[in-house]
Amino acid sequence: MTQGKDAATPSETRFPGQHALEQQILRAGEGGLELVGSRCPQCEAAYYPPRRLCAKDLTECESIALSTRGTLYEATQIRIAPVGFEAPFWLGYVDLPENVRVFVQIRWNGDGEPRHGAAVDLLLETVRTGPPDVVGPIFTGPV
Ligand SMILES: [Zn+2]
Repeated sequence: MTQGKDAATPSETRFPGQHALEQQILRAGEGGLELVGSRCPQCEAAYYPPRRLCAKDLTECESIALSTRGTLYEATQIRIAPVGFEAPFWLGYVDLPENVRVFVQIRWNGDGEPRHGAAVDLLLETVRTGPPDVVGPIFTGPV
């Protein structure tokens, strides 16, 4: 039996970046792209990546733009990169004022290793080269 025309057309091909965009972690704001989270109007819990329903009380969450400055919690260096990434690079957790912790690439411009508690700023740049290239969040510091 042959496959129909609908099977695996290029428009149906899934890429990791496309999936991330479908979750709307980025959107166009007044000052350019924004990192998107969500907040529960009932209990004020915030989430990243954004959730449709609050995990605590199942209230419908509202979309929020997350802060562009955070505090580095911890980072580790990746020395063997997966396809589309160039080693070495840092990955880590950044705490944002909305009380969410995001797992992102870290571009450390300081001496030595990234330091716990350092202030870091958001960049939205290519995080993975393609095809297709994927734009995503990178936090850079120290600020
Ligand atoms: Zn809630």
